[in-house]
Amino acid sequence: MPHDLSRYHRQMLLPGFGEAGQRKLLASTALILGCGALGTVAANMLARAGVGHLVIVDRDFIELTNLQRQVLFDEQDVADAIPKAEAAKRKIAQINSQVRVTAVVDDINYTNIERYAAGADVLLDGLDNFETRYLANECAVKHGIPYLYGGAVGTVGMAYAILPHTRNGDALWEVDASGSKATPCFRCLFEQAPPPGQSPTCDTVGVLGPAVSIIANFQAAEALKILTGNFERVCPTMLNIDLWANTVTQLKVGRAWEDGNCPCCKQRNFEFLEGKSGSSTTSLCGQDAVQLSHRQQMGTLNFTEIAARLRQHGPVRVNEFMIRAGIRDNDKAYELTLFANGRAIIKGTGDAAVARGIYAKYVGG
Ligand SMILES: [Zn+2]
Repeated sequence: MPHDLSRYHRQMLLPGFGEAGQRKLLASTALILGCGALGTVAANMLARAGVGHLVIVDRDFIELTNLQRQVLFDEQDVADAIPKAEAAKRKIAQINSQVRVTAVVDDINYTNIERYAAGADVLLDGLDNFETRYLANECAVKHGIPYLYGGAVGTVGMAYAILPHTRNGDALWEVDASGSKATPCFRCLFEQAPPPGQSPTCDTVGVLGPAVSIIANFQAAEALKILTGNFERVCPTMLNIDLWANTVTQLKVGRAWEDGNCPCCKQRNFEFLEGKSGSSTTSLCGQDAVQLSHRQQMGTLNFTEIAARLRQHGPVRVNEFMIRAGIRDNDKAYELTLFANGRAIIKGTGDAAVARGIYAKYVGG
């Protein structure tokens, strides 16, 4: 059945859009990695704009504290204990029934990301940790799929559109005579993740709803440019905003690819996708606990700083070897034991995905 395009009239009027652009959108697929604040805001916009197929992957359920910024969810979803991906699918069905949504309740990791990305025209980052971002970035570079990085914590947000350099001369993003628009990848710009516990998370320092919303809307705008073939309009700089300090910065990233020797997009070494880097989880038999360790050598953790943040969530004990913290999350009690090299044992769950979630939220990195 042909789509009724009349609902898209106001965006088809835009330069470079038109009916042709709208038909491209309706025929395209966006993979939304994580359906928290970034994911819900972006999915909401892309669904309203008529992106034909959204694949939404998220491992979590909705909590009351999410409603402050996660625009597709409401109090009933919390009461019904619905997974985020599924609740987003139901809400989008009410917003635009022309859009197909595939909801996936899963932990994104190296064993499954390429499967979820198959057929996607763009990857949209709604993630909460560096490790999965490296994974998404490698998936984007390996398969030549644009990757829209976004991150927000506290009152600060950053966003950046990656049109990956590909093996065969970057012809994918060619813009008439001016040549390729390929941009440095996420790893060109952030070669190494900060050690665990060094970077703040929304669960430790909070997050301003409008900041994360601006970032997600920037990602959505870049997605619309890419999916309508307007590569020449893709923003070449990294957006950095702080709504509390009233600063908006466009960081120039132009020469990061030429000047560097990126392990990912230059050397085409996909260590996260191959499971050689990043963390690995092991369920501890009979203990209702999961161990999480890092495959790469990490720096030594700053116990004082991490303990101070964890104290906001429950009792904390520290000695020279480890931090032990009680955490209440979504009405469940966990005990997190964190060792100086970043290894952690999370008690209160036998589910590796839940343990990774607790680690990402309260330790970060
Ligand atoms: Zn790179």
